Amino acid sequence: MNQNQDRILDGLDLARKIQTHLQEKIADLHPKIGRPPGLAVLMVGDNPASAVYVRNKEKACNRIGMASLGKHLSGNITQEALAAEISALNHDDNVDGILIQLPLPKHLDAISLLHQIHPDKDADGLHPLNLGKLVRSEPGLRSCTPAGIIKLLEEYNIPLQGKKAVVIGRSILVGKPLGLMLLDKNATVTMAHSKTQNLSQVCQEADILVAAVGKPELITASMVKPGAVVIDVGINRIKDQEGKSRLVGDVEFNSVSEVARYITPVPGGVGPMTVAMLLSNTYWSYRQKFNF
Ligand code: NAD
Repeated sequence: MNQNQDRILDGLDLARKIQTHLQEKIADLHPKIGRPPGLAVLMVGDNPASAVYVRNKEKACNRIGMASLGKHLSGNITQEALAAEISALNHDDNVDGILIQLPLPKHLDAISLLHQIHPDKDADGLHPLNLGKLVRSEPGLRSCTPAGIIKLLEEYNIPLQGKKAVVIGRSILVGKPLGLMLLDKNATVTMAHSKTQNLSQVCQEADILVAAVGKPELITASMVKPGAVVIDVGINRIKDQEGKSRLVGDVEFNSVSEVARYITPVPGGVGPMTVAMLLSNTYWSYRQKFNF
């Protein structure tokens, strides 16, 4: 890690502030409503990376006074049994947010299960109704990672209007919704992906460059315009020369942080913001339900 601290977009710090703010609001509303907001994270099977993410979400819930009502289900669960779990949560009055931790085991159809979550409890903003609201720029539950990125850019007063934003990656989880959110902020958006030609050249044009690919250190300094803002969504586990495992993003942090005006670290950038937005979404649903 280099010393360019004034160039860091500190997602960990902002996520903590958001959680403290939510904790205060929950402490105020809980006695008035008679119950805390509830988030149910459904974890299926034993994917070790997913287990870490789920544990972080549960800890965050406990920290802010939100009920963690999730379940850990067997990796052999059938599509019908998982659909029944979702239906029970849809009908449970103590549950305001439901999240299915992805990826699911291969025998399960994730898309159809995501469709079964009630749109008002869709804490991950992935239901077609909520994605449709995003396309139409209507208020609604927004996908957590892209919403967290927008919050982070706003916190640091990074202007988006009229700026050229390049988003690499077009997944429904990150790239596509983020492209729409940047468009809503009046950026001029280019979506790049695995079939994009001359990726380097496309990236060099960007005032705001977002990498959401899943390829370790794909983005190097020569691909980045000096003074650009670089958002690294990637989480990749690699082994260093001594065989030790560590996390890196999609951006070569040390070299790119020398050229960029701002950059998000991995870990400590986008990841904590994703969790903060999940809690915010659940709180939003809770408040909407009781008209507060
Ligand atoms: P995905 O596999 O669904 O999508 C990857 C995208 O990258 C695809 O659209 C593909 O077209 C594009 N791509 C692949 N190779 C490319 C290349 N060589 N050049 C340009 N584009 C290329 O992945 P995802 O779910 O969007 O996740 C992307 C990364 O972000 C992963 O590392 C994931 O772990 C991470 N992630 C992090 C958070 C977080 O909270 N920080 C949240 C979600 C995902």
